[in-house]
Amino acid sequence: MRPSPTLALLLASLLACTAAVPLAAQRRLGTNEPCGGPIAADSLCVVTLGTGTPVPGPQASGPATAVVVGTRTFLFDAGAGVMRRVAEAGLPVDGVTAAFITHLHSDHTLGLPDLILTSWVMGRKAPMPLVGPPGLRAMTTSIMAAWAEDIRVRTTGLERGQPRGERVAVRETAGGTVYDMGGVKVTAIRVLHGSWKVALGYRVETPRRTVVIGGDARPSPLLEAAARDADVLVHEAYPAVRLKPENRPGGESWVDYMKSFHTSDAELGAIAARTRVRHLVVHHVVWMGGTPDEVLAGIRRGGYTGKVTIARDLDHF
Ligand SMILES: [Zn+2]
Ligand SMILES: [Zn+2]
Repeated sequence: MRPSPTLALLLASLLACTAAVPLAAQRRLGTNEPCGGPIAADSLCVVTLGTGTPVPGPQASGPATAVVVGTRTFLFDAGAGVMRRVAEAGLPVDGVTAAFITHLHSDHTLGLPDLILTSWVMGRKAPMPLVGPPGLRAMTTSIMAAWAEDIRVRTTGLERGQPRGERVAVRETAGGTVYDMGGVKVTAIRVLHGSWKVALGYRVETPRRTVVIGGDARPSPLLEAAARDADVLVHEAYPAVRLKPENRPGGESWVDYMKSFHTSDAELGAIAARTRVRHLVVHHVVWMGGTPDEVLAGIRRGGYTGKVTIARDLDHF
């Protein structure tokens, strides 16, 4: 039996209603522009989504940096709070173009389940490319196992979640080119971070701008070579004048730990001067009671005279 014209109209309007909220319209929450305006497809903008450390300070989320190229978003690290900051920045909440992890320290990976599962709940359908050091696949597999019941309930229950939309395409690397498409090249750089077997930084190149994300690292020739003449170097630091043994059990090792795992402000200033980076963006500062002025003074002591920003969450460059 053919439906009456009235029924056909009603059916059509019902279909129009369900189709009126396409997933693409839900990609961004709010009206913020991540870089203050559109970014050309052959250039890039850096957004410091999370500039913090393991200290759960409310002003600074865990480490996470976005590099935006045209309509593509590349995410570096997934610290605690990452998806809140992605949303706040006006970046897509239903999945980034690709995500890159520097190393598996918890402060850089606590937001990984958030990144994987929230982007799926918000509409992601395709496997998310995820690049990082060896061990990342096992970590991702464990995350999926930990939330297996959530995934089952969301897909088989009344939520009607996208089946298999939560998938992740993990690629483990110890260095080299990890993305090269449409005028964007991402190279993983082996850096030195204490006793981690593999820790990485990343160099992102477009025809017009190059940015280097240092990861957590003490100074090393490889990172320095990668940072040479970069437009932006995003790097960690600690104020050297504050470094002393800590008053706690095991605190006598603190100085050795910091020197083996991290870079002081003066060391960073020397690196920036030698590599002639145009803009030094400092994040992930282990403050030890220090101030931004002290870190800036340390960088100047190291010999860098160029532009320096001690970044806050949601700054863009
Ligand atoms: Zn860290
Ligand atoms: Zn670390």
